[in-house]
Amino acid sequence: MSYDYDDQNIFARILRGEIPNDTVLDTPHSLAFRDIAPQAPAHVLVIPKGAYVTFDHFAQDASDAEIVDYVRSVGEVCKMLGVAADGWRLIANAGRDGVQEVPHLHVHILAGRDMGRMLEPAD
Ligand code: AMP
Repeated sequence: MSYDYDDQNIFARILRGEIPNDTVLDTPHSLAFRDIAPQAPAHVLVIPKGAYVTFDHFAQDASDAEIVDYVRSVGEVCKMLGVAADGWRLIANAGRDGVQEVPHLHVHILAGRDMGRMLEPAD
């Protein structure tokens, strides 16, 4: 499977320093920053620095070093936010049906309130 990456997406522009972000963690292969429209008291996005559209794209094409860095970064952000005791949610939207707005891989780390059921029933 090949994936088309649009290098004009907003997270690519953040990575190039063209627009500001509220950085939480910056590592060799990953960047974590606060979501501009938080859906919970803590809402942080973690993105790889490489040009990957979705999680499956990343899993297919990223190096082991990128993958390790990314997963460890998610864990590090959880530590920084102190979410382990009360719990938290990890979301990765992908593509049309996943209703992904920004076509650069990101996981949402959400915490600080009861997150409710995972999905609403389909109509
Ligand atoms: P998704 O629907 O999974 O693609 O989510 C995209 C997320 O990016 C949304 O939660 C937006 O609020 C967030 N977002 C969009 N632009 C920015 C930005 N410049 N800085 C931080 N978060 C952003």
